[in-house]
Amino acid sequence: MGWENNVRKVIPYTPGEQPKEKVIKLNTNENPYPPARSVRDILDNFDISDMRKYPPPNADILVNALAERYKLKPEQIFVGVGSDDVISMAFMTFFNSDKPILFPDITYSFYDVWADVYRIPYETKPLTADFRINPDDYKGENGGIIFPNPNAPTGVLESVDMIEDIIKANPDSVVIIDEAYIDFGGKSCIDLINKYDNLLVVQTFSKSRSMAGMRIGFAVGNEKLIKYMNDVKFSINSYTMNILTQVCGAEALKDEKYFTDTVNKIIDTRERSKIRLKELGFEFPDSMSNFIFAKPNKISAEFIFEELKKRKIFVRYWNKPIIRDYLRITIGTDEEMDNLFEALGAILNG
Ligand SMILES: *Cc1c(COP(=O)(O)O)cnc(C)c1O
Repeated sequence: MGWENNVRKVIPYTPGEQPKEKVIKLNTNENPYPPARSVRDILDNFDISDMRKYPPPNADILVNALAERYKLKPEQIFVGVGSDDVISMAFMTFFNSDKPILFPDITYSFYDVWADVYRIPYETKPLTADFRINPDDYKGENGGIIFPNPNAPTGVLESVDMIEDIIKANPDSVVIIDEAYIDFGGKSCIDLINKYDNLLVVQTFSKSRSMAGMRIGFAVGNEKLIKYMNDVKFSINSYTMNILTQVCGAEALKDEKYFTDTVNKIIDTRERSKIRLKELGFEFPDSMSNFIFAKPNKISAEFIFEELKKRKIFVRYWNKPIIRDYLRITIGTDEEMDNLFEALGAILNG
């Protein structure tokens, strides 16, 4: 079939499974707690006749709420349908050089997919043996830089100073810091956007804000970067974020106490889980995210993954070089984690 020669062929990103049956779901880093109660009230009071109209194309309900929360100008904020949409837009907008973009070899597995679909050349830089980023790897010629902080799926947090060092060394390319997990104990680079015009910081409502199903992500950067992103977005689809999502997202930002309480609960459960996993013989880099990247010491990770699944406990496993000895375990509620530890105990003791 001749037309097939002209198809844009891509190998798509593989998301974690979303099983229909009820399972203990520790495989996609969702938040085990619901969003703030006031989001329920917003839905109850929503006037469905507002659905007749197109939503605000620049999502200003949400942009203004974010501007207030992060003490920024609305012109410094871009919102998208999940940070996957935001990062995809950023790739299209900023990564148009003939030089390769750079990211770590072990990282979010969507980056190489976007690079391929947009035909952006890329080069991966190996992490150190203890899963750290070597900043010197990111100081040569490049067409752009992206990595998550904390990194995924390792959970390892790098310092703002180290990241600033990389941003400073790259005045001619855009550096994207994907802060999907920053709320679980890391320090954000957001403040640096006022100092560097080549920095874009991306965050999401999917993890710390319990709203993966609503699809909300945002990027912050200087006004010029954001303007360029909006120009690309408005060249493709103006109305990406629906009205309900905009109002629910804005509402969720108001209850700071609920947000901090749930994040702290997850951090407490994570710290407790580190102790239990060590007792069970697992090794892992210290995690500052809502998951732990853990390597069993006796039985293969793949076997444990399959055995857990039989017991209706889902974690994430990749049969890929370097990481095939590890399981990525999302931090759930205390009760879910206790179920996991009990199952792990049974599997490890045959
Ligand atoms: C989860 C995740 C995202 C994407 O989240 P969205 O649900 O699209 O907002 C982006 N980057 C990393 C590293 C992630 O883990």
